[in-house]
Amino acid sequence: MQVFHTGAEWQTNWLKSLQNGKTIGFVPTMGALHEGHLDLVKKSKKECDFTVVSIFVNPTQFNNPEDFAKYPTSLEPDLKKLEEEGTDFVFLPDTSTIYPEKPVLTLNFGELEYVLEGGFRPGHFNGVGIVVSKLFHIIKPDKAFFGQKDLQQVAVIKRLVRDLSFNLDLVIVPTRREIDGLAMSSRNLRLNPDERSQALILYSSLTKAKGELLAGKSWLDVHNQIIQDFNETPLAKLEYFELVHPEHFTQFETFDPLQKSSICVAAFLGSVRLIDNLPIIP
Ligand code: AMP
Repeated sequence: MQVFHTGAEWQTNWLKSLQNGKTIGFVPTMGALHEGHLDLVKKSKKECDFTVVSIFVNPTQFNNPEDFAKYPTSLEPDLKKLEEEGTDFVFLPDTSTIYPEKPVLTLNFGELEYVLEGGFRPGHFNGVGIVVSKLFHIIKPDKAFFGQKDLQQVAVIKRLVRDLSFNLDLVIVPTRREIDGLAMSSRNLRLNPDERSQALILYSSLTKAKGELLAGKSWLDVHNQIIQDFNETPLAKLEYFELVHPEHFTQFETFDPLQKSSICVAAFLGSVRLIDNLPIIP
């Protein structure tokens, strides 16, 4: 496994010699790696000749300074996991490599800016779009791998690739969960034992709502019930629980079994913000 720190290093030492008809898979991450991240690496290894994983905690996508300051890091264990997975290259840029100066460019993803994550995390998708564009330009992958766990991010990256004509394929990988259903997330490391056990409400509310919708209950009734469940979970504070189109993120007021839909949820457990989603009609 080769570790590199700058785009020039990658492009002069490796990229040119690898490109002879070989495909490069790319997995961008912010580190504190778990099995969900490693599923993306496995998928890339299966579909591409070489796999590059980046680890970079991108300051510009954090709208909350405390969230950035407390974002977990674990470089040595991360490198060990990537080595064991058979990763070919790891890109570990400094902040000054990615941001020699503060970008003046801002990206606006239209409607996606105003709903759910866009509404609750102003500027977040601009930061994601800028860093992912920079990483795509540096690595020049044939395929890039993203997790369904961040469903709205997937919608944003799809728009980015179409609108800016990035010449690559996106591959979306299903959400990896703990045995009890909690979606794996680097932020789970920050939960204390009580928060960890009450965090299960994210997944249990999604599965409960799905079951009730498919059994014919109205979205309004389901939504009210879930709000009550959150109110009865003392360490959880719900931000949103919404039924949306999984690509455009239009919000639905009623459930239509003939229409593609997913439920997305965001909640704080103590000071830790977690998100999850579940397809209802894929
Ligand atoms: P992050 O390090 O949180 O920026 O995540 C890096 C990539 O891993 C993103 O494409 C995420 O959507 C994906 N990812 C994070 N958690 C999971 C999970 N539990 N299952 C699958 N993919 C995930």
